[in-house]
Amino acid sequence: MSVLHRTLDELVAYPPHEPRSASTVYRKTHHHLVYELDAPCWICAVRHSQGGAMETHHAHFEWASQNGLDLSKVTKDWPALTDRKKLAEWVDSESNMLVLCAVHHRGQHTGIHSISYPAWLLQRYEGEEFTFIEQPAPVAKVALFAPDKGKQAA
Ligand SMILES: [Zn+2]
Repeated sequence: MSVLHRTLDELVAYPPHEPRSASTVYRKTHHHLVYELDAPCWICAVRHSQGGAMETHHAHFEWASQNGLDLSKVTKDWPALTDRKKLAEWVDSESNMLVLCAVHHRGQHTGIHSISYPAWLLQRYEGEEFTFIEQPAPVAKVALFAPDKGKQAA
């Protein structure tokens, strides 16, 4: 076995935006995915009904990034997003949302906001006999089983 020790050093600038508050679209999206569909974490498959602390992650664009996006580039990949209003609604919709448990969303060594994408993705496909991320789970920081308070994505 070989181990790659990578240090992630990242500075991300976000354009000016209004203070984040959960939009009506976001609240509806989160409720539908987590409570009505009981959708599993995309990585580990735990569900709200099993006690998972479920969160919803903005998969393509974070909410705070939208004012910095070039709409013509966005429209090439999502032709229906032809203006800023449509983009803003889409950002909080199910099309831009991934259901994750707290560990795979914000966990220090396991969350999509914390580690590189290649390492994070391996967790979805790892075999029973192997663990790609051997660092101890940061239980004190992000509990896998906790009351769901409708946590929001960044
Ligand atoms: Zn998970």
